[in-house]
Amino acid sequence: MKKQERADRVRQRLAELYPDPPIPLDHCDEFTLLIAVLLSAQCTDKKVNEVTPDLFHVGGSPAAMIELGQEEILRLIRPIGLSATKSKSIYNLSQLLIERHQGEVPRTFEELEALPGVGHKTASVVMAQAFGVPAFPVDTHIHRLAQRWGLSSGKNVVETERDLKKLFPESSWNDLHLQIIFYGREHCTARSCDGTKCGLCVELYPNRKRPVVWKKP
Ligand code: SF4
Repeated sequence: MKKQERADRVRQRLAELYPDPPIPLDHCDEFTLLIAVLLSAQCTDKKVNEVTPDLFHVGGSPAAMIELGQEEILRLIRPIGLSATKSKSIYNLSQLLIERHQGEVPRTFEELEALPGVGHKTASVVMAQAFGVPAFPVDTHIHRLAQRWGLSSGKNVVETERDLKKLFPESSWNDLHLQIIFYGREHCTARSCDGTKCGLCVELYPNRKRPVVWKKP
């Protein structure tokens, strides 16, 4: 099967499996989504969803977050990894939103990536999920699946994002990145790959006999 055929098959199967993929991070608006995505770096969505109800109850806007102060933000997000750095970013980011953007979350990659604690992946999630702009946020999980499915041999997430964007129609990107994440969590975890059992790989690589070795970004 050629690479484009594999990509088409992946898109088709994932759309059947996850026809309407939900956004995994709980949020109420663009600001709370931005904060939830920032918190999710190197942390599970489940853990983030455990701390955000209390955080957003008292810090649901940039002004309210500044009012809370960095120490209180840190106390509320303490169970999350890298909480000290993240509390600082949340506080500084809230100040910048008020100073530069009238308290609103900006709608361009450039402006989002200029905020503290916001990299390209976080900006991509916000652009896709808050504003519906086509984006393909690639994290280490999507990077792994793209390699195992033979859709990219990118050495890092930037190269993988470039490859995936070429293979899939722009209109599918926003759903697809979520569908790949859901499939990865269910079937294609970082540790386990039999190589011959999962339905999708049986279709893509009927002759595969061994687990797939993948290169970390
Ligand atoms: S066989 Fe399963 S775990 Fe291995 S790459 Fe394919 S989908 Fe992922």
